[in-house]
Amino acid sequence: MNPSRREFFLTAAGAAGVATAADLSAQETAKPQAAVDSLRQKTGTKIVSIETFHQGTNVGFVRLRTDDGSEGVGQMSPFEADVTATLLHRKLAPLVLGADPGDFEAISDSCIEKNYKFPWSFICRGLAGIDTALWDLLGKKHQKSVCELLGGKPRPIGVYGSSMRRDIKPADEAQRLVKLRDDQGFQAFKVRVGKVTGHDEDQWPGRTDELIPTIRKAVGDQVRLQADANSCYTPKKAIEVGKVMEQHGYFFLEEPCPYWELEWTAQVAEALKMHVAGGEQDNDLAQWRRMIRMKAVDIVQPDIMYVGGLTRALRVARMAAEAKLPCTPHSANLSLVTVCTLHMMAAIPNAGYFVEFSIEDAGWTKDLFAPALVVKDGKVSVPAGPGWGVTVNPAWLEKATRQVSEKK
Ligand SMILES: [Mg+2]
Repeated sequence: MNPSRREFFLTAAGAAGVATAADLSAQETAKPQAAVDSLRQKTGTKIVSIETFHQGTNVGFVRLRTDDGSEGVGQMSPFEADVTATLLHRKLAPLVLGADPGDFEAISDSCIEKNYKFPWSFICRGLAGIDTALWDLLGKKHQKSVCELLGGKPRPIGVYGSSMRRDIKPADEAQRLVKLRDDQGFQAFKVRVGKVTGHDEDQWPGRTDELIPTIRKAVGDQVRLQADANSCYTPKKAIEVGKVMEQHGYFFLEEPCPYWELEWTAQVAEALKMHVAGGEQDNDLAQWRRMIRMKAVDIVQPDIMYVGGLTRALRVARMAAEAKLPCTPHSANLSLVTVCTLHMMAAIPNAGYFVEFSIEDAGWTKDLFAPALVVKDGKVSVPAGPGWGVTVNPAWLEKATRQVSEKK
């Protein structure tokens, strides 16, 4: 970030009346890497069973058990959960059964390296289930929340209301955001611009040009606004849209260009004063290193599930911290990904300002776990633990397809 952009960063934070740079530095007491280092020790137990549960495609859970009867529950990446579960039992379970849960980093690495002909997407989706179950198990073993394992403290954290909709007229979007601001105290929102992988097209002609000022006018200057282009634009068009967003005091533009075009994204980041955010789809840590090194983004957004679990998301956050960049993970639905993200954001020293919190009623995330996440005064409390601090609904598990791999 060049000096003018840093200035914008601080000014925008102050103008929004929310977290400031001082708040950010106050979190630097947390030392997640030191905490991870101290956790990385043998427990003297072995993983003896791995169960998966899914109800078709939307979401699936993983339960691990060790030979001393300890257990932990995690979640695979949402979407195509049935395929992910099949792959988990075939390609990952044989590598994990018999391992010591204290070797979580080695387990994570071996699941990637031993599957080097099938890297990333589905391997990481399955690994996320195993890794997040391992962290739950370690938390329960130590009688601490995951956030505390990482040196943080469960507390209410600011969330931004994240719209997933492009089929909504700007005036209707503005109306529902104003209601959320007034009813639940949201101080930040993200809306959708352009069209998903849209080759510069808008969802319908003129929607984005109308949306940007309409939302700002409706919610007022004190609310932080952000927009996601979901890989829509060429650099030229992204810069054009970004400059309009800047005129209306938006804080960041997310995934402006096809996410695999790092050089394009870097061009946009260089041209705009406003921040560019991205990385949710990226699960290759070497690609993350390149992205951060070339300053393609100003705010890094790993998705704990897509990237392969908390262990790998923490590595991305650490790379970002070393480059002095904030990390605000992608958590675009109300499954366990948001719970895990709250724990992580309460612990990492370079946490960005708000946790992403979907404002959509996705249906499939309803009653997945308890206690439910509740927004109050624009904040959501990190579940207090132990582990992730939530219990997956037993009735949901009862109805799910169960598959098990066991240590012979
Ligand atoms: Mg996004």
